[in-house]
Amino acid sequence: MVHFVGAGPGAPDLLTLRGAALLERAGCIIYAGSLVNPALLARAKDGCVLYNSAEMTLEEVLAAIQKAETAGADTVRLHTGDPCVYGAVKEQMDALDALGIPWDDTPGVSSFCGAAAALGAEYTLPGVSQSVIITRLAGRTPVPERERLAALAAHRASMVIFLSAGMLDRVEAELLAGGYPPETPAALVYKATWPEEKLVRCTVGTLAASGEAAGIRSTALVLAGDFLGEGGYERSKLYDPAFTTGYREGRA
Ligand code: SAH
Repeated sequence: MVHFVGAGPGAPDLLTLRGAALLERAGCIIYAGSLVNPALLARAKDGCVLYNSAEMTLEEVLAAIQKAETAGADTVRLHTGDPCVYGAVKEQMDALDALGIPWDDTPGVSSFCGAAAALGAEYTLPGVSQSVIITRLAGRTPVPERERLAALAAHRASMVIFLSAGMLDRVEAELLAGGYPPETPAALVYKATWPEEKLVRCTVGTLAASGEAAGIRSTALVLAGDFLGEGGYERSKLYDPAFTTGYREGRA
């Protein structure tokens, strides 16, 4: 059996309890070595076979899983953050289905949550934005034309941009072209929750210059939107004394 496990954004204690138990029992661990914190591998039991998928193709990953299955061992396929965003996980699940190998999926803390925690930010502020757009710039992996960054920017929602820290001038240009005013608050979060985490607060109009000054080119998220501003939001209805909920009677 194969267990897909979200490793979390970096800090080794941001793994779920279920993920930790699966790592400790696995006979084979295939980890995404470009981003998974190697400290997590300290949980592997003696004799566990380790593979770094950064150096492997999908075919090689599947062959390693089949080898473990033949030996009667469970495999943990360890993906950074949560496997469901930019995890290349669906193609593995479908291939395992075709091979008749059972699998399950244990979620993890995505880096976009780690980044918000590091900044003390909430993406969904009443009166500011109630939507989070998770996207990326087209690089060698194309992005459908209807989802180009400038088109998404027109919503002026809270935006999290993955896999694009090496192209900050294009990120900035597209966000501006789409309609974010240049003074809109923005941030670069490098290696959220790792010891070497860096937080750079800036504006949409200064993203490229700020990234350049901080030397950030990879392993970072770009955040943009008024949710990063000072104040300007409404208080929640949920905790408003005058508001009645299913659990509490409102008082005028
Ligand atoms: N599944 C992962 C994303 C993998 S794609 C998740 O849920 O987070 C890889 C991209 O994720 C990187 O290029 C970077 O944009 C982002 N990323 C991953 N870990 C990060 C971290 N600790 N801090 C900031 N960005 C991170």
